[in-house]
Amino acid sequence: MNPAMDKGLPAILITRARLAEGAVDWTGTLPLHEDWGAGDAELADPPRGTFRVDESRNGSIRVTGQVTGTVVARCRRCLRADTRDLQVAVDFRLEPSVDAWDEAPGLYTLDDQLDTVDLLPALREELLLGLPEFPVCRPDCRGLCDVCGMDQNEGVCNCKTQTMDPRWESLRQIAGSPKADEDQNQEGQ
Ligand SMILES: [Zn+2]
Ligand SMILES: [Zn+2]
Repeated sequence: MNPAMDKGLPAILITRARLAEGAVDWTGTLPLHEDWGAGDAELADPPRGTFRVDESRNGSIRVTGQVTGTVVARCRRCLRADTRDLQVAVDFRLEPSVDAWDEAPGLYTLDDQLDTVDLLPALREELLLGLPEFPVCRPDCRGLCDVCGMDQNEGVCNCKTQTMDPRWESLRQIAGSPKADEDQNQEGQ
């Protein structure tokens, strides 16, 4: 019995006996939803997957296809949540010679002692890798004020000058209105 099944965890199981007969085409809903592991993005619904599972002669298993879903991503600057489509192409291998410490994107361990393969842990990893690393609501989002928390996209608060980098403050006095410089400075941090 596969350990995931044993513990009642969600899993996508395919038997080695079935794989020995030829490639398996799998289409369905991935049992991932709440608490799936991503910090800045939540899955709005369990994602859909379509993929082919193929065992090679040397005993490794290759999975190719795609996963689509909807995520609610939180802007890292202004914290506004928005919904976006997630579409991740997957192409990874499970290999008996790879142990847990050697796992890398696209390469996962395969427990040869089991008569079933659970594809879900690797699929979850691949999905996490497919998420935007630094989600922003739009490229020029101005974020929140460090002092009062006001959304700078909606207006400028009075504490704005206090949070400005002092190196730029002196330039500002010289130049009079260095708005472009200020924006560049924020962008670079
Ligand atoms: Zn934003
Ligand atoms: Zn403020």
